[in-house]
Amino acid sequence: MLHELAKDVFELFYPNNCGLCKKAITKGEEHICTSCLLSLAETNFHTIKDNAVEKILRGRFNFHRATSLYYFNKEGGMQEAMHSIKYLNNIYLAEHFGKLMSKKLKDWLQDVDHIIPIPLAQKKESQRGYNQAFHMAKGLSDASGIALNNTMVARIKDTATQTKMNRAQRIENMQDAFQWNTIDKLKGKHLLLLDDVITTGATVESCVLALPNNIDIKISILSLAVAIES
Ligand SMILES: [Zn+2]
Repeated sequence: MLHELAKDVFELFYPNNCGLCKKAITKGEEHICTSCLLSLAETNFHTIKDNAVEKILRGRFNFHRATSLYYFNKEGGMQEAMHSIKYLNNIYLAEHFGKLMSKKLKDWLQDVDHIIPIPLAQKKESQRGYNQAFHMAKGLSDASGIALNNTMVARIKDTATQTKMNRAQRIENMQDAFQWNTIDKLKGKHLLLLDDVITTGATVESCVLALPNNIDIKISILSLAVAIES
């Protein structure tokens, strides 16, 4: 209900405009204009073995593979895109990025069974009215046909905003933040955890470490953007 309302509010202010530059979009464009889309720096990490995202996460928990579609740089358009999907109710753009992930990461996604958006802290989700990771996951699921599972993991602790924290503080902040439900159903499956941005990896780490030890589940990690130098 709330996210439908958020959509309506967005449409009211920006009907058929680019989610980044706010200029009118033209025929063939969807939610982002061609010049803004081209301004986003793609990592191409899905083609690189032991890529920079995998290096961030390696040794902290077991995973199958990890990648991010774009770089999150201070100067690039991704800053604007992230602002739009997080704070301006631009659910359309979040879903559109999900569709782009499906298109650009087709082979990389091949054996994934379930897409699981990382849940937001409850307080944050009720303030915002939606979880942007859910809408990216929805776009990805709609375009790829891979099942979306939004009930398997819950956020059980309202964590503080991590913007100004270092890696150690973020890990401490995220401790015991997640709880998995009836995980037995997912035995033998390959789960893709999806988040908007990876900075230190503390959030995905906490989410994966909340799984029971030695459970037969394959985990891969995908984020729209990663905050490292391009
Ligand atoms: Zn634009």
